[in-house]
Amino acid sequence: MENSKQLRTWLDDLGLNHPLVIAGPCSAETEGQVMKIAHELKDTDVNYYRAGIWKPRTRPGNFEGVGALGLKWLQKVKQDTGLKTATEVANRAHVELALEHDIDLLWIGARSTVSPFIVQEIAEALEGTDKVVLVKNPVNPDLSLWLGAVERLHKANISKLGVIHRGFSTYEKSKYRNIPEWQLAIELQTRFPDLPIINDPSHITGNRDMIFDVSQTALDLNFDGLIIETHHDPENAWSDAAQQVTPKTLVQIMNDLRIRKETDEEAEYKHKLSNLRAQIDIIDNQLIETLSKRMKVSDGIGELKKQKNVAVLQSNRWNQILGAMILEGESKGLSEEFVLKMFKAIHQESINHQEKIMQA
Ligand code: PEP
Ligand code: MN
Repeated sequence: MENSKQLRTWLDDLGLNHPLVIAGPCSAETEGQVMKIAHELKDTDVNYYRAGIWKPRTRPGNFEGVGALGLKWLQKVKQDTGLKTATEVANRAHVELALEHDIDLLWIGARSTVSPFIVQEIAEALEGTDKVVLVKNPVNPDLSLWLGAVERLHKANISKLGVIHRGFSTYEKSKYRNIPEWQLAIELQTRFPDLPIINDPSHITGNRDMIFDVSQTALDLNFDGLIIETHHDPENAWSDAAQQVTPKTLVQIMNDLRIRKETDEEAEYKHKLSNLRAQIDIIDNQLIETLSKRMKVSDGIGELKKQKNVAVLQSNRWNQILGAMILEGESKGLSEEFVLKMFKAIHQESINHQEKIMQA
């Protein structure tokens, strides 16, 4: 995929003075519910009205969406409120129905992005469309799979493209429903700075109380927009009840978010920033120097263990180090999560070094 400015023309053409906002219920439930929420979102910052028509549910037996009937309701939303419409498509039949009903924006869900077969089928069904197509990240943190899906659409001559960052599934317990792994989204932006990227705080958090903070982080990281599940009666929603906000709360969130500029030309700002960046560069070099020293010491331990035929992994010692470093880190303002991740990586590199020596 060439790194072309054209990828974001559809977004720039909207001429917004705020991030793109896609909002609406997780699922279309009834015509009354769809219309009520749409009317409450009319005349706000919302650009596209979202509603799931076909719902991918983890386990059977839950509400699976109203199906094609809901597309008529979305058409009515557009007619009555002027809001553009958006829904998820997961196969060729969905695409054909959505196009027939003139839905303006289609997204590929996280469970579909993982399957190149299904993405290819959707891409072929959409060949040459002038609708906006957004690709949610796959459920697993795999950047190639995510980009691969975008490439399949690009190859099918779909030019109005973008991605949605909705977080990643993990086995480990976390305060998030799907952990954000911001680094992945940052890497994607670095590689394709012109590909619009929208944040989905609803599916990242699974909890309406955390929507604001995640949205603010996304804007701080230069995301182009937000997709936020919105329902007039969230508690009684037929799907994702815990994470939906009311239209009123959505408006409040949009008002309170601080929208950052990408940069500033002011000389004072530039001078201060380059000063701080110079300090960071020095510290980063020191970090590499220190880590390299640590690995040399580790090599020495490897030699010693080899002579005495002792195992590389010493769990007790390792647990002691971890415990002590987490406490030390906390006293210096570093989170437990970060210290743990960092020391696991350092430990792994140490083991690799020692293994090399043991096996030489
Ligand atoms: C959704 O946006 O309603 C949805 C099902 O999301 P995801 O594909 O991210 O789980
Ligand atoms: Mn949902």
